[in-house]
Amino acid sequence: MTPQRPHGTPATPASSLQLPVAETWFTTTRIDDAITRIHEPHVHPFLQANTWYIRGRNRSLLIDTGLGVTPLRPAFPQLFADEPIVVITHGHLDHMGGAHEFADCRAHRADPIETPPPGALASAALFAELGMAATDAGTVPHLLISALPHENYDPGSYRLRPTRVSRHLVEGDIIGLGDRDLTVLHLPGHSPGSIALYEPETQTLFSGDVVYDGRLLDDIHGADPRAYVATMGRLAELPVRVVHPGHGPSFDGARLRELTSAYIASRRVTQDVA
Ligand SMILES: [Zn+2]
Repeated sequence: MTPQRPHGTPATPASSLQLPVAETWFTTTRIDDAITRIHEPHVHPFLQANTWYIRGRNRSLLIDTGLGVTPLRPAFPQLFADEPIVVITHGHLDHMGGAHEFADCRAHRADPIETPPPGALASAALFAELGMAATDAGTVPHLLISALPHENYDPGSYRLRPTRVSRHLVEGDIIGLGDRDLTVLHLPGHSPGSIALYEPETQTLFSGDVVYDGRLLDDIHGADPRAYVATMGRLAELPVRVVHPGHGPSFDGARLRELTSAYIASRRVTQDVA
């Protein structure tokens, strides 16, 4: 999740909103021959997460699964003709919403993938669930989608579905696709079970919400700023050429090091003051 501020949109009850029906719910961007970014343009930027698809020789890999407002898998029958390995970077709704659609779903044990909280598309309910400040709730609209996935969709019916985890991932696990290997990094801070996937051969990092180019959330339920500082110190030392984050566009290693330094510096100031 990425906070947006300030919007100043007045709160409006969901029932009175006349939302258009989206022509297509998902948008794809092809990064290269193997990697495709999938995202949901009608979701407010606070909840608009990236799903990364990586085609491998033996298996394909899906990193995160979007919000789960509408099924992901039937939208891409060609990509998911074979059962992909699905890695959930952490247990927040905008990353694991579609996870229940897949049989081989892997995640770290420390995040509640199998018994998630219900989630919500209404900002007040969601912010309460996440333990976010009321001042943050005032900066986003009442409803966090700007279109409906289909006619008669009721945003109030949104519930995160439990997902059976086929394998609990730990630091150092290798996700093998046949022609490429990605290593699991356990990087707590945003959540206790946050993980990233790192491909040493190409120095590519799929970072989830551990780092993206925006305000990072370390004051929500389950977050731990002290662990986050250690995580950022670790990422600053990692040889990285490109980061494909959980939110927003990809960026290079130089920008990663700017973001890690800025976070560590901001926390040092906070801790000095406190
Ligand atoms: Zn998150």
